[in-house]
Amino acid sequence: MTDAERAGEILACLQQSHPDARVELDFDTPLQLLVATILSAQSTDRRVNLVTPALFERYADADALAAADSEELEELIRSTGFFRQKAKNLKACCQILMQEHGGDVPSDMPALTALPGVGRKTANVVRAVAYGLPGITVDTHCRRLSNRLELSGQNDPVKIERDLEQLYPESAWADVSRLFVWHGRYVCKARTPDCGACGLQDLCPWFSAQSV
Ligand code: SF4
Repeated sequence: MTDAERAGEILACLQQSHPDARVELDFDTPLQLLVATILSAQSTDRRVNLVTPALFERYADADALAAADSEELEELIRSTGFFRQKAKNLKACCQILMQEHGGDVPSDMPALTALPGVGRKTANVVRAVAYGLPGITVDTHCRRLSNRLELSGQNDPVKIERDLEQLYPESAWADVSRLFVWHGRYVCKARTPDCGACGLQDLCPWFSAQSV
């Protein structure tokens, strides 16, 4: 079996195992997705979803967030952790959106990653989920799964992204992003992977190594 064939079988298995896998952050607009993704760093989507309704009600657009009172903003996002830095980034990010993008969220990678608090992972989420553009989101879950399945031997998310892009056709990238994150989060967990509930055992070198 070639690497591409094995990669294809892995994706097919994940598609079958997780038909309901989705981005778990709640949002209605590209700006809300951008804000929620920034807040999700070092936090959980569930925690972010508890915070964002009040946040989005208080600040309806980039203009409002750009002009937010820092202390009030910090209080609203406090429970997501690193709240001072995140508040600073959100304000600065929205100020740039107002100054350079008419208050809209850009869709191109260089413009997105130039925003404070926005790395390549966040940019890929916004591009793929809000705008339907091709890209593979490599977060900690996707990285772990890619390594255990030996789809990539790299540690750097950008290099893993490149390896996955080589293995999968562009039409599959959205599914790879969604399903690798989901499977890593709920099944192939960092400390205690639930191999007994995983359909990938026969395709997983990590599992084979543990079983010897
Ligand atoms: S078999 Fe275990 S280690 Fe391999 S992908 Fe599944 S959960 Fe992860």
